[in-house]
Amino acid sequence: MLLKFWGTRGSIPAPIRPDQVEQKLVSALLVAGEQGIDLTDHGQVLEFVAGLTLNGSTVGGNTTCITIEINDKLFIFDAGSGMRELGNYLMSAADDKAKRWGFHRGKGHAYLFFTHTHWDHIQGLPFFNPIHVPGNVFDVYHIHDHVPDSLARQMAAPFFPLQFEQINATLNFHQLQVDERIKVGDAIITNTELKHPGSAYAYRIEADNAIAIIATDAEYQSLDNTDTLKYRNFYANADALVFDAMFSVRESFVKEDWGHSSALIGADMASEANVKRLLLFHHDPSSTDTEIDQILQQTEEYLERQGKFLEVIVAAEGLELDLRNPTITSDFHIKDRLEKGIIFITLSGKFGGQATERFRKHLAHSLRSHKSDKVILHMEDVQEMQMAGIRALVDARRNVMGLALVGIPENVYRVIELSGTTDFFAIYSDEETAMAALNSH
Ligand SMILES: [Zn+2]
Ligand SMILES: [Zn+2]
Repeated sequence: MLLKFWGTRGSIPAPIRPDQVEQKLVSALLVAGEQGIDLTDHGQVLEFVAGLTLNGSTVGGNTTCITIEINDKLFIFDAGSGMRELGNYLMSAADDKAKRWGFHRGKGHAYLFFTHTHWDHIQGLPFFNPIHVPGNVFDVYHIHDHVPDSLARQMAAPFFPLQFEQINATLNFHQLQVDERIKVGDAIITNTELKHPGSAYAYRIEADNAIAIIATDAEYQSLDNTDTLKYRNFYANADALVFDAMFSVRESFVKEDWGHSSALIGADMASEANVKRLLLFHHDPSSTDTEIDQILQQTEEYLERQGKFLEVIVAAEGLELDLRNPTITSDFHIKDRLEKGIIFITLSGKFGGQATERFRKHLAHSLRSHKSDKVILHMEDVQEMQMAGIRALVDARRNVMGLALVGIPENVYRVIELSGTTDFFAIYSDEETAMAALNSH
């Protein structure tokens, strides 16, 4: 099950402004200068840019449109302005997969689901080129009665030059009941009603041993267990929960009945529902990338303080997640901070083959960005250690001048013993001893 984001803004498209692009360029070049990046080396520049996260990139300005691919079937959720980009991709003959879908030659077929018909969820449809190609077929699923009529009305004169009736592709409308469960291709899809002006509907998509939930445009006014139970049940055990994180918690309390929620409420809901990845979605059009990055960091900190480990991801245009892919895991976490010239890295969860690539990348990035070669690795929260984890630690020892391991739990220490590598590592009982040892070198 491949989840992909084409538009992640709420309310109205919010394209990045020229002054914001300039600001991103200036700050990236300054950091590159500080880090001594060779700007004539293409590989180094690419690696540097990949490590810039949201400050060097953007969540994008298009409104909501998400696709899910399940065994060669294409599911589209909402038709915000991001749908225009999806259409361009599907029509491009350059991409092999796009070519196989067949939309450019009128042989395409997709399932299109609507959460509701606010502008930001329908405005991309007239600009979605595959609907103008005769022969393409779209099975359109909706719950509100008024969806077909609303799609037509947004194109009625004098608002649009082309009328809905002039669309060349075939649109087959299917109205679903609230809470109805359907089988579409290999997917089981259910829906539930969300509190939002005029109601919005969340979809739960199960296929491929994976579960994705699209739950956008939702307000959770009462956070009492009795009132959130319905949602927690609907979101239960999802591999990805796409959540309305438009407001801050404060705003969600103040802007009552506006119909939106916040990342921290999503964090509670997701951890209570045993969700693996929380995707922050429907970003406020006025939020900058830096602000959205701050929301991400606050949410991670909040979860960490509760001792909850689930992955939080900012839904950005172009983001692709393979929900069957075991390498994107929520069972391993890594954090770092720089203090007194030493990089402190905290590992938690299961340190096995699913985690080592992330560990390597994270370590390389923090060595570069913190410009230090002394690392203290906090291992208190490592629950499980496998040989792949040991291998990664041995490799790390080669790349770091001073590497100290601290707080190794008994079971993990025993695994290091069993692998016969205890003497490879500088192991300390506490942080102070490790710091003293590193500083004495
Ligand atoms: Zn919306
Ligand atoms: Zn809405």
